[in-house]
Amino acid sequence: MEKINPYLSIVIPVFNEEKNLEELYRRLTLTLDRIGKSYEIIFTNDGSRDRSSEILYDLHVRKPDQIRVIEFGSNFGQHMAIMAAFERVRGEIVITLDADLQNPPEEIAKLIIAMEQGHDVVNTHRENRQDSWFRRMISKIHNKIRGWMIPKIKMIDEGCMLRAYRRHIVDLMASTGEANTFIPALALSYAAHPTEIPVAHEPRFAGKSNYNFFGLIRYNFDLVTGFSLFPLQIYTLLSLFVISISFLSIILLSVLRSPMIFHAMIFFVLGIFLFGLGIIGEYIGRIYLEVRKRPRFVIRKILEKN
Ligand code: UDP
Ligand code: MG
Repeated sequence: MEKINPYLSIVIPVFNEEKNLEELYRRLTLTLDRIGKSYEIIFTNDGSRDRSSEILYDLHVRKPDQIRVIEFGSNFGQHMAIMAAFERVRGEIVITLDADLQNPPEEIAKLIIAMEQGHDVVNTHRENRQDSWFRRMISKIHNKIRGWMIPKIKMIDEGCMLRAYRRHIVDLMASTGEANTFIPALALSYAAHPTEIPVAHEPRFAGKSNYNFFGLIRYNFDLVTGFSLFPLQIYTLLSLFVISISFLSIILLSVLRSPMIFHAMIFFVLGIFLFGLGIIGEYIGRIYLEVRKRPRFVIRKILEKN
C-alpha cells in the first residue's frame, strides 16, 4: 500500500531529556489528536547519555506509524539534530520544538493558523520568558548585536525554537549542507512571507539546560559567523580609522614641524598592515564559506515503520 504523507511534521531534538519525554509525548499527542490533522513526530536523539534512547524506542513502539526516531552516533548539537530530521520530513507544515516542555505543545495550534493564513515561516517570541535573569540578559544583548551586525535578519527573539516552516523552506535549508548553522536565521533568508507571533513559555519540566555560558557564546558565534563576515571586516574598518587619524596627524604635525611626526608615520604604516590583514581575512572568509563541506552528522540507526 502506498504511504500517504502526513500534513504535519513535528521535529524535536533530544539530548539527555529522560525525565521530560513521557510528559512531552502525553501533551503533544493530546494536542495533535485534538487538532485532528495527520501528523508524524520525528525525534532526533543527539547522543544522549541517559535513558532517552530507550524511552524513544518505547514511544516508537507505541505509535509506530507516527513516531520516527533518528539516533545520532554522538552529540552533534541541537541544530544538526533538527537538520537530520529536516532531511527526512514528509509533512507539508514542519514545526520544531524543544523536548523539555519550555515550548508548550498546546501553542502549535496558533502556529498552524498563522501558516494557513499564507505565511511560509512562522517565527515566535516568548511571552513572559521563564528563564534565569542571566539568560534573558544574554539574549537581550545578543539580539541587539545581531540586529546591528546582520540587519536583514529581522526577529524579536532568535532563541525560541517553537517555529513553523512550509516544506519547501525546510527542503532548501536541508539542501544547504551547512554544518555550523542557525536554523531560524537560515529559514528567514529563504522566506518570502514570514511572520513572528507571541507564544507562551514555561520553565523546564525537569532536568537542566544543556547550555552553559561558553556553550551560549559558541552558539551565538555560529549565528554571527554563519550569516555575516562582520567579525572579519572589523579589521578593515579599524585600519581605515587608524590610517585616517594618522594621516591627519602627519599633516598637522608637519605644519607644526613637530618631531612627533615619526610616531604618526609609524601609526600610518601600522594602519596599512592592519588593512592588509583585513583584506586577507576578507578572502579567507569567502573561502571558508565555500569549503565547509564536512559530513554534518553521523546517524547510527533510524526507527520508522517504512
Ligand atoms: N539539545 C540537543 N543537543 C544539544 C543540546 C540541546 O538536541 O547538544 C536539545 C535539548 O534536548 C532541547 C533543545 O535542544 O530539546 C534545547 O536545549 P535546552 O533546553 O538545553 O536549551 P535552553 O532551553 O536552555 O536554551
Ligand atoms: Mg530548554
